[in-house]
Amino acid sequence: MTRFREQDRKAPIHAAKAPSRDVFLIEDSVALGMLLQSKLRASISANVVWLKTYAEAARALSEQAPALAITGINLPDAPDGEIIDLLAQHDVPTILFTATLDRKARERFTSPNIIDYFFKNANDIVDHVVRTVARFTDKLAPSVLIVDDMESGRSVLAQLLRHQHYRIFQAASGAEALRILADDDAIQLVITDHHMADMDGHELTRRIRARYAADRIRIIGISASSDPFLSAQFLKAGASDFIYRPFITEEVRYRIESNIDTLGQIKHLRFLADRDPLTSLYNRRAFFERAHPMVDDLRANDGQGSIAILDIDHFKKVNDRYGHDAGDKVIKQVARVLEDCCARGNAITARFGGEEFIILFTDLPQHEVHARCDAIRTTIENIGIPYNDAVLRITASIGAALIQPAEGLDNNLNAADQMLYMAKNGGRNRVVYDAVYC
Ligand code: GH3
Ligand code: MG
Ligand code: MG
Repeated sequence: MTRFREQDRKAPIHAAKAPSRDVFLIEDSVALGMLLQSKLRASISANVVWLKTYAEAARALSEQAPALAITGINLPDAPDGEIIDLLAQHDVPTILFTATLDRKARERFTSPNIIDYFFKNANDIVDHVVRTVARFTDKLAPSVLIVDDMESGRSVLAQLLRHQHYRIFQAASGAEALRILADDDAIQLVITDHHMADMDGHELTRRIRARYAADRIRIIGISASSDPFLSAQFLKAGASDFIYRPFITEEVRYRIESNIDTLGQIKHLRFLADRDPLTSLYNRRAFFERAHPMVDDLRANDGQGSIAILDIDHFKKVNDRYGHDAGDKVIKQVARVLEDCCARGNAITARFGGEEFIILFTDLPQHEVHARCDAIRTTIENIGIPYNDAVLRITASIGAALIQPAEGLDNNLNAADQMLYMAKNGGRNRVVYDAVYC
């Protein structure tokens, strides 16, 4: 391998390179490189270009400007961190892996193009890198609101957050902060100063908490005060975290990221709790949680709704003939048909158990409910589901009932179940709806 030469580094940079959405992964360790490459490819939309030497990186940089680079410091042909200077020269936003995290190493990482650095042997390095890269390459960067009545206080944080590709909102008072939060429900994190003219940080925190739970919006208090009780008071008022000024950027970066990460994990856990693992449709419990208030609404507003139960015909035969995996594939395919139907609005669907599904229609005329149920039935009848060398064909029966809002959900479900029984008895592959309409 040729070691890179000093003149390579000084080589003129091509002025007009095509900017790209590619991410350069510059790493000679095959194990780390493969792990990162596969995780990044699985979780972000950008293309990952893996470069294993300084020379390869220099060549690639001369041809295109990547969205971001992730790099180790020492490469086989550039063992003294020369890659850091090369990426700075090209002004490429860069994430570094480092083997040491001492003060001396940190001093090398002050170039403005460096977004962050991670300790190479940390267990969670891959997760950190993926989250950071996602902010830079995906359009859905998390939104953060900075609240401070001093412009200088806001601008220091805004600069730091901009550098990290967060979406930033700024408020010069507590009242303005509450207005912005009411207007934009994408904001996930509020960073608020303590001393402000209209209301202090504690009061703002309390007011935010009165409207938004900690699993919706995180709050970080920040202050230059030397009062050691300030942080405890912030936490008691409902803040998730606190930072004393002056701060070092790594600490702020880390606290912001970990708070937003917590929200992401809560969202994910909630998704798992609400969904049937095979189909990702709502499970029974999540369905009832949503259906009860919808039926209450119908009762309160004199609205009209219908409830339908779908059951796959002779499904046991699919399992018996082709095996359980084939049966699972059929269930998933039926779930997609129901999902598509509900994506048109006015309906929610769930897997009720086994090969049985449920659909609640609200504010749809009866003929429309009937038409949708029949469209579901014909779509299922016409899909061939490839399995090994076979193409599986199935049908389904649907029983639907007009909701009597005065009755509970259970009684309405029983009515739909009776219609399903009639559909099965009538020969299957049919819709029976108890509504009478012209
Ligand atoms: P019918 O037309 O009367 O509805 O007959 P059927 O065979 O569809 O109904 P039956 O209730 O006799 O059989 C349902 C079968 O579904 C029995 C059960 O083993 C199978 N089953 C339930 N849950 C799953 C699942 O998650 N995956 C698979 N592959 N099979 C399942
Ligand atoms: Mg059944
Ligand atoms: Mg069945």
